[in-house]
Amino acid sequence: MTVRTRFAPSPTGFLHIGGARTALFSWAYARKHAGQFILRIEDTDVARSTPEAVQAILDGMSWLGLDWDEGPFYQMQRMDRYKDVISKLLNEGKAYYCYSTKEELETLREQQMAEGKKPRYDGRWRPEAGKELPVVPTEIPPVIRFKNPLSGNVVWDDLVKGQISISNEELDDLIIARADGTPTYNFCVVVDDWEMGITQVIRGDDHVNNTPRQINLLHALGAKIPQYAHLSMILGDDGQKLSKRHGAVSVMQYDEDGYLPEAVLNYLARLGWSHGDDEIFSTEQFCQWFDLDHITPSAAQFNTEKLNWLNAHYIKQADLTSLAKDIIKRLALKGVEVDEQIDIQAVIALYRDRANTLNQLADSIAYFYQTPELDQAALEKHITPEIVPVMQGLFQQLESLEWTVENLHVAIEHAVVSNGLKFPKVAMPLRVMVTGGAQSPSIDAVMALLGKDKVLERMQTFIA
Ligand code: GLU
Repeated sequence: MTVRTRFAPSPTGFLHIGGARTALFSWAYARKHAGQFILRIEDTDVARSTPEAVQAILDGMSWLGLDWDEGPFYQMQRMDRYKDVISKLLNEGKAYYCYSTKEELETLREQQMAEGKKPRYDGRWRPEAGKELPVVPTEIPPVIRFKNPLSGNVVWDDLVKGQISISNEELDDLIIARADGTPTYNFCVVVDDWEMGITQVIRGDDHVNNTPRQINLLHALGAKIPQYAHLSMILGDDGQKLSKRHGAVSVMQYDEDGYLPEAVLNYLARLGWSHGDDEIFSTEQFCQWFDLDHITPSAAQFNTEKLNWLNAHYIKQADLTSLAKDIIKRLALKGVEVDEQIDIQAVIALYRDRANTLNQLADSIAYFYQTPELDQAALEKHITPEIVPVMQGLFQQLESLEWTVENLHVAIEHAVVSNGLKFPKVAMPLRVMVTGGAQSPSIDAVMALLGKDKVLERMQTFIA
């Protein structure tokens, strides 16, 4: 049997980290089993669904490289199909009209509560052999309810949580169509999972309560029951429910914040799933390894430090040409225009080991292309009156130097030795003059890339 999984987001907001992980696991499961991955947009909540949110979900998925084989299907475009299936259930006596008004149901609820019972629909419009139903009122448009089994249990072997059993006595006769005829959420999901031939439903565990109702409906339709895997939720760094408070919860925010999609994907893969001690792996490797047996049933906790560590790893490994393209864009957003005379790939190669994010990387090299911001404390510490004449001497040497790393190194070394100083005594003020701060990779390498004109111009302002 071909594996068919789906990701079925409701487009009421951006693609958040939890949704992205659900999508990733469903996608990887399909890829691992050479199956199909289906994208379905559950947009029946018309008041809360927006085209912007649909776009944000599509953007998030394509940023992560999660491609789908079928869809996107939009539930709003499938209304006729749902209505057909509702008619079929009505005809087969598996669903029925219910004319209870809101007020009536509210009174029932209050009564049940007062008697210490769990509030539930009492089946007053449910047809049974030999039962006399109330007289159909004329002005009340009815809802349609599903005839849920009255006894027995719904049992499924959840691929993450183990066996779950729910008594049918706990379940109401679910409303499958509202009074205006529109099908309800759980019903649409069931028809889709059935008709799209979904074999594994991988989704957040906020849907566990829907599953027994959906299974009963699937049985009524004569559908094959898919396997279910309910993923536990993701908590923030602080162990609390993940929310905006935790910073980036939208996948695209990670892009903005300077994370590589490979890093986010690798990070998400390990969020609640493990393969021995492996922490770093490619997407291809993940697709080969992924299984549902190694998903932890307990909540996964987000760890920004680990994500940063992974991101740093992928930045170090990234292809320089595409990294440069990305960094040029980020610099442009900060108003820094890249000057073609300075080889940006070489600059990035020099700096990329020091960055956790692409934004940090862009920030750290901006001084190559614009006057550096001066670190006042570093200036006071390193550019002392005694060092100025030493720098003047070095400046003169540099003016006529053939500009290579080796020559620069020799020139700096010469200033050190001829003045009887230690290396940092010369390198540090030079660094402050050239880069604006006290931290940089090897200063001769930096100067070589920056070019003679810029180096001399920057030194000049301090020694004149
Ligand atoms: N549309 C639901 C959501 O976004 C998912 C439904 C499902 O996966 O069954 O939470």
